[in-house]
Amino acid sequence: MPHSTENLTEEQIQVPEIITHPVPSRLLDSKQCPTPHVNSMEQYRAMWTESVEEPNKFFGNLARELLSWDKPFEAVSHGSFENGDVAWFVGGELNACYNAVDRHAYTNPDNIAIIHEGDEPSDVRRISYGELLREVSRMGNVLKSLGVRKGDNVAIYMPMIPETLIAMLACARIGACHSVVFAGFSADSLLDRVADCGAHVVITSDEGRRGGKNIATKRIVDDALSKESAHQVEHVIVYKRTGSEVPMMENRDLWWHSEMEKARSVCPYERMSAEDPLFLLYTSGSTGTPKGVVHTTGGYILGAAATVKYIFDVHPGDVYACMADVGWVTGHTYITYGPLTLGVTTVLFESTPTYPDPSRFWQLIEKHKVTQFYTAPTAIRALQRLGDKWLDNIDLSSLRVIGSVGEPINPEAWNWYNENVGKGQCAVVDTYWQTETGSIIISPLPGCTPTKAGSATLPFFGIKPIILEPSTGNVVTAVDETGVLAIKQSWPSMARSVYNNHSRFLDTYTKPYPGYYYTGDGASVDKDGYVWIRGRVDDVINVSGHRLSTSEIEAALIVHEAVSESAVVGAHDDLTGQAIHAFVSLKSHCQVSDGLERELILTVRKIIGPFASPKRIHIVREHPKTRSGKIVRRILRKIVNGEQNQLGDTSTLADPSVIPSIVSQVHKK
Ligand code: ATP
Ligand code: MG
Repeated sequence: MPHSTENLTEEQIQVPEIITHPVPSRLLDSKQCPTPHVNSMEQYRAMWTESVEEPNKFFGNLARELLSWDKPFEAVSHGSFENGDVAWFVGGELNACYNAVDRHAYTNPDNIAIIHEGDEPSDVRRISYGELLREVSRMGNVLKSLGVRKGDNVAIYMPMIPETLIAMLACARIGACHSVVFAGFSADSLLDRVADCGAHVVITSDEGRRGGKNIATKRIVDDALSKESAHQVEHVIVYKRTGSEVPMMENRDLWWHSEMEKARSVCPYERMSAEDPLFLLYTSGSTGTPKGVVHTTGGYILGAAATVKYIFDVHPGDVYACMADVGWVTGHTYITYGPLTLGVTTVLFESTPTYPDPSRFWQLIEKHKVTQFYTAPTAIRALQRLGDKWLDNIDLSSLRVIGSVGEPINPEAWNWYNENVGKGQCAVVDTYWQTETGSIIISPLPGCTPTKAGSATLPFFGIKPIILEPSTGNVVTAVDETGVLAIKQSWPSMARSVYNNHSRFLDTYTKPYPGYYYTGDGASVDKDGYVWIRGRVDDVINVSGHRLSTSEIEAALIVHEAVSESAVVGAHDDLTGQAIHAFVSLKSHCQVSDGLERELILTVRKIIGPFASPKRIHIVREHPKTRSGKIVRRILRKIVNGEQNQLGDTSTLADPSVIPSIVSQVHKK
């Protein structure tokens, strides 16, 4: 079915209004919901002001309230961006595993820490805090028996199973740093990361399960480690997930279950300095070679716990479900450390949103009575594209907060999420942050912030966002003017370094605009002080002197009813400097019609203005995406500029096979 038979005229295209949504009244009704931790804008403003004006007082108190310390800190914060020596909770000692596991196991051993929803919906495992403590302690002893000591790095290449969290927490317990590598990466990408961090031990599984298929996890580890000279791995611990036969290398490979059987389930935790590294993690690779971002113990877990408390408004007894993969920072902060540090239940989801059918997320929410649900715009758009019927007759009334992260969420998808999943009764939190920020830095708070579809709204505690003019570094005060987003002062959970490359850390984040942390994202602030993230600075397009943000043009294209996803990039143009190319995929029931290109151009003209009109529209089946689901505009930009033979590192792409068809489409005419 073509999406329309008669072409739309410019008059018929409706410009969406920006509506401010008040906090749903249900969230403020104490008979229906727990009283939100922050329930008025006055309270938010007072707390935020204290957090940026007296950060030592604010975060000192919060760190004592939310975390358990073995030794109190002597100074709340120290150092500066300029000197590259930012430090929080100096002199304090604590252990991240103790905070996430032991203290809850002592008080409520039977409370559920992890609900594992396996690949098959019938495959559910519940692990209590008491059991988690025993398992983590055993694994800590296994690692110690293999020679892992405080300060060593351990690589984890595992599917979405509880043992992955157990392995991470066991590392934290004995003072080792985990380096989790997303288990969709190829052998080469895995080898790069294992070699870069110098791990002696890799933890993996025989296979993974996803969407009804087995994934050859151990085989990829074997391939990666086959170049013996390139790494220092001595042992591979293999968890039996599917039971398929896998080759085990003598003296190197060990079965998880046999080692665990031998180990004692009591393992004293290591007292760590607040500034000792907790983990390293490579960024998604949307813009180039991934960086091994280093996070430290005290500040990071405080950021994780504080944002789960305030941004997801978590209360005792809640069931918190983040759908990200634990191989990304979202999985670290919002599956593992945040919810567990607060002692609530975290849901770990092994499957995909469409297995066995596109109602999977909603079934999961109903089954486990999920209270907070967190996913990415790419998943929301994919489910929206498949139609609303998958939500029919499913009870989602347990939900209070639904979140989005990873990319700007276009208003169309936001509205769909709000109406169909939140039923207009939940707080929608569009949360902006990065691997490097450790935890969310810009987001609404459920009990107080009025929301606007497409805006991440207001800064979290301790965050002072500033918009800078990119070429001069001057502060932009004009309303709605796009510049680069920078942060004025340090906050506890910010990354401290790039692994083995502190100068790369400084060059990337603190040197571009002295005195600021530089995010690399474009943003503007509206008349209410709301922040609108406009996409990556590298993606900003300059047409005849107009600086245009890709996300604005992309959001305008999605307003057209046939469009499912869009990506916009600039091509060199002798006349205008740059010309806009739009790559568009269509909703499943829509086909290309004759007038579609013209309608799309008209839609952008009407919503933004004639200067933003795309010069070319390319209808594609699928965009090139990272394994975390983000569109990689860098590749599209190279293709439109005739540089398809120099695409650079494509190892972070989920499906590199989409590239040839895009290349031939762009260069066919
Ligand atoms: P790399 O740094 O390797 O290029 P990446 O930036 O995609 O990869 P992440 O740290 O996973 O790696 O993603 C952070 C980026 O995701 C942000 O800088 C921003 O561009 C985007 N992002 C995250 N959340 C939001 C959001 N709510 N709104 C807009 N953009 C977001
Ligand atoms: Mg980045």
